[in-house]
Amino acid sequence: MNIILLGPPGAGKGTQAQFLVAERGMVQLSTGDMLREAKSSGTEMGKQVAEVMDRGELVTDEIVIGLIREKLETVDAPGFIFDGFPRTLKQADALGDLLADMGKTLDRVIELRVEDDVLVSRIVGRAEEAAAAGKPVRADDNEESLRTRLAAYYKMTSPLVGYYYAKGMYSRVDGMASMDEVKAQIAAQLDS
Ligand code: AMP
Repeated sequence: MNIILLGPPGAGKGTQAQFLVAERGMVQLSTGDMLREAKSSGTEMGKQVAEVMDRGELVTDEIVIGLIREKLETVDAPGFIFDGFPRTLKQADALGDLLADMGKTLDRVIELRVEDDVLVSRIVGRAEEAAAAGKPVRADDNEESLRTRLAAYYKMTSPLVGYYYAKGMYSRVDGMASMDEVKAQIAAQLDS
């Protein structure tokens, strides 16, 4: 089973993906993680995307589609969780084509719904917690970049809700509920 977790920054996609990895042996494909890795290891591509990411803007479709293609071609898994990808209609079309070419299907798209002011306080909290624990704070976890990331979500990514609804793949969970409750809601959807 291959699924997309859809939602704005701070919705809890990464956290819920981790639960699915631990409990179902699925593999999480997070383009954000892949890009941060490229950035910190200083590859040419990493240098190219660093500033764009820090500002909270989207990197090009070509780059992220290339990253996902490479993973799909080299990683074997009972199921993939796409986390932070696709973020544009072009990426969504490309994912559909890639999966079809490999004889795979996309089974569900689950949106984590969270109110905007809760997102902002979650992200600001994440940055403060990391700083207090002496851990690195994400360069884009500041209020200005966050505003840009939210704008990018509503402008570029939110149309995917209608796109996948029309394909009959879309469902949503209440991302404001507790972590365990969200986890249970996702499990119920995957098992239904
Ligand atoms: P995330 O960890 O998913 O919040 O992603 C962090 C940043 O990486 C985003 O703000 C973008 O700059 C970039 N990024 C991650 N995934 C994508 C994507 N699918 N398309 C474009 N940019 C992305």
